[in-house]
Amino acid sequence: MQDTVAVVNGLCLVGNEFVKANVLLENGVIKEVTKRELKADEVLDARKCLVLPGFFNSHTHVAMTLLRCAVEDVPLMEWLKTVWSIESKMKEKDVYVGAKLGIAEMIKSGVTCFSDQYFHMDGVARAVEESGIRAVLGYGMIDMESEEKREKELREAESFINEWNGRCNRITLSVDPHSPYTCSKDLLLISARMAEEYGLPVHIHVAETQDEVRIVREKTGKTPVEYLDELGIFNYRTVAAHCVWLSDDEIKLLARRGVSVAHCPVSNLKLGSGIAKVAEMVKEGVNVCLGTDGAASNNSLSVLGEMKFAALLQKFRLSPAAIKALDVLKMATENGYSAYGLRGGKIEVGYLADLVVLKKSLSYTPLYNPVYSVVYSSYGFEVRDLIVDGKILMNDGKLRTMDEESLLDEAESASLRLQEGFSRPKV
Ligand SMILES: [Zn+2]
Repeated sequence: MQDTVAVVNGLCLVGNEFVKANVLLENGVIKEVTKRELKADEVLDARKCLVLPGFFNSHTHVAMTLLRCAVEDVPLMEWLKTVWSIESKMKEKDVYVGAKLGIAEMIKSGVTCFSDQYFHMDGVARAVEESGIRAVLGYGMIDMESEEKREKELREAESFINEWNGRCNRITLSVDPHSPYTCSKDLLLISARMAEEYGLPVHIHVAETQDEVRIVREKTGKTPVEYLDELGIFNYRTVAAHCVWLSDDEIKLLARRGVSVAHCPVSNLKLGSGIAKVAEMVKEGVNVCLGTDGAASNNSLSVLGEMKFAALLQKFRLSPAAIKALDVLKMATENGYSAYGLRGGKIEVGYLADLVVLKKSLSYTPLYNPVYSVVYSSYGFEVRDLIVDGKILMNDGKLRTMDEESLLDEAESASLRLQEGFSRPKV
């Protein structure tokens, strides 16, 4: 019998509104949402707090925390060269340390689940298992048209799936061909078959830059979206990250095929990729969720931060009324969960017991409308408690499953070794 947790006296997001309610969590799900008094093994008093479904970081490469600020303020090709050369030195133990750092950061900023695509994924999975967070994990496959590399990548992806299938109830697996320009046609076709065989979602980068669209067009005569659709990549539950450069017809196609888009506004701005047509996607019925991308191109893993950027960019592009705060809040919560087929992101009986408690602090005062406060006024210091799978991972700002101090030292020494040969500012 699992312990029960009750979150009481808080202003809870139920449906589209904040209402005073008590929430009972049992066996990893929400058991009751009620006005009556609740008893539980542990009771969190959320008086003067907002209680929301936890945030979902729908596209990241969490171990890239170790590359954060390693190279800044240079042209894209120079940035990529440094990032790749540091990554080439990363071993599984580095990925494990980088993942722990990123997970601790996400827990502290209200994230209950993230979707990750990288290499040495055993390191990420171990960090997820130990920390108590929830995740969707896939080995990122790249073959650059080489048959030898393709076979090696497919072996890696399959052995990761077989190793972790059913091992941890908080880990969902995915099939992750990196993108239509770094994967051969064969690799994409086999990825689609793999998704069908294992019944897993597909997570892939799509139309991130204008260069990518040009390369795919030159290679195939089609846009990235048309090409992937033709190869059957959209026949499954697919999450397409970025989707910055889409035509109106491609947006309609994604909506028709039920493809979710992981919008990564900060990364798109920082790498100069462009601004995705999110307002149009929402209007056409595309399920848009939010991602930070890796910390090297963000530099934080804060979904709260992405919410504000996502809203502001559409207001800047079109008009202040182009996108509503409630839509953006859903992108950060329930849309991420549903994109990957998880029954979470809502405070409703039967949904996953993944919650965040935000303090009604300076930045939320006065509290006219909590939806506006969370989307437009958050810094991150408002995050007080975090619950995943019915377990309290952070209480009153203190992590329960991770040692923050030793994590800082571990990550600092891992990054020093990785950055040998690169100039590092004196601090
Ligand atoms: Zn990415």
